[in-house]
Amino acid sequence: MPQDIRLLDDEQRALVQMVREFATAEAKPLSIDYEARSEDPKPLYDKLAELGLTGVPFPEERGGGGQPYSTYLLIVEELAAAYLALAIGLSVHTLCAFAINEFGTEDQKKDVLEKLTAGEWFGAYALSEPGSGSDAAALTSKAVRDGDSYRLSGTKVFCTRGDEADVVLVLARTGEAGPKGISSFLVEKGTPGFGGSKKEDKMGWRSSPTWMMSLDDAEVPASRRLADEGNGFKVALASLDSGRLGIAACGIGVAQAAFDEALKFTGEREQFGKPVSANEGVQFMLADMSTAIEAGRRLYRHAAALRDAGLNYSLQAAQAKLFCTDAAMRVTTDAVQLHGGYGYITEYPVERYMREAKALQIVEGTNQIQRYVIGRSLT
Ligand SMILES: Cc1cc2nc3c(=O)[nH]c(=O)nc-3n(C[C@H](O)[C@H](O)[C@H](O)COP(=O)(O)OP(=O)(O)OC[C@H]3O[C@@H](n4cnc5c(N)ncnc54)[C@H](O)[C@@H]3O)c2cc1C
Repeated sequence: MPQDIRLLDDEQRALVQMVREFATAEAKPLSIDYEARSEDPKPLYDKLAELGLTGVPFPEERGGGGQPYSTYLLIVEELAAAYLALAIGLSVHTLCAFAINEFGTEDQKKDVLEKLTAGEWFGAYALSEPGSGSDAAALTSKAVRDGDSYRLSGTKVFCTRGDEADVVLVLARTGEAGPKGISSFLVEKGTPGFGGSKKEDKMGWRSSPTWMMSLDDAEVPASRRLADEGNGFKVALASLDSGRLGIAACGIGVAQAAFDEALKFTGEREQFGKPVSANEGVQFMLADMSTAIEAGRRLYRHAAALRDAGLNYSLQAAQAKLFCTDAAMRVTTDAVQLHGGYGYITEYPVERYMREAKALQIVEGTNQIQRYVIGRSLT
């Protein structure tokens, strides 16, 4: 039972149906091999570009789709239900494009954003470092001004598609300790001294490459600094507010996929002479799972509606990320449980969904950090 599209307007419904068809007929079947080989599904990203899905929430004059962020999230959820790693790649790409659309100069929009919206280029985001994850403002990568350029040095970790991306939004220190000394840069693939130095081997998201990135005296033109010196942390936080909604939609997508499998399996599997779903104990689990999915969906869509209306949505984005990804973890774990022993076997998809949900509770601010953001905002 995929997301209910009855109340969408005609344009949104047609878009979701097109994505659903691509996701189920092409992306989902191919995901199995890509995941098994831990291989980035480049042809599927090219297909996203072909379908016009690489710039959905950006202005038409920048080559985007001119759609509300809420519509973009419907697409992310649909993709995530079929192939989470692909949805994550799109989400990270959009996060990078968002920063340029929001903070970029005319030249940066022309030279970089328009390539991203067209899907000619893909973007990534490098904030995390070996010594600074949750405490992102403690980052130590340096950017030193050298005439018309900056020289960047340091190490970034956990960069999703960092080595595959054509441009990476890199946060580095140009000044004092703390958030006010951070600036942001658009670093292009092939910049000497910049690239992936180690690809991580992971529990899940195996076809979403996660890179340690080296900055070894990498020269970046000053014209590729995004926003003023010292405003990089503002760029990072604003991008994360938007990105968190993408992660929330991914959580609901993967939870929905796991729930659908559990509903089907428990309806077919018989024990004690009847389908296991005929037991109230199983029905109660299914009821809780589907309710959590619907509640999470409302939460992220409400936050997105606030965003689309130009209202502050940081609190609601953190609540949505927290709730939707915790729900994804619970629902996928219960889906494994409802499959009995078969749930633990890789022939069935639910163990993959459970491994995939775990990372959603960690990325773009762990769920402890979301609680911190919510608590601080409330008080
Ligand atoms: C698959 C994957 C993809 C990723 N992609 C990207 C990417 O594209 N770009 C990028 O920049 N980063 C990326 N990350 C990094 C991710 O954002 C960080 O892992 C995350 O922010 C946590 O940082 P950390 O791993 O250093 O953990 P730490 O910050 O060291 O945290 C360790 C534990 O302590 C808890 N903790 C820390 N501080 C507090 C506190 N104040 N209160 C309560 N608990 C606390 C944390 O919640 C966590 O449980 C990715 C990570 C993964 C696993």
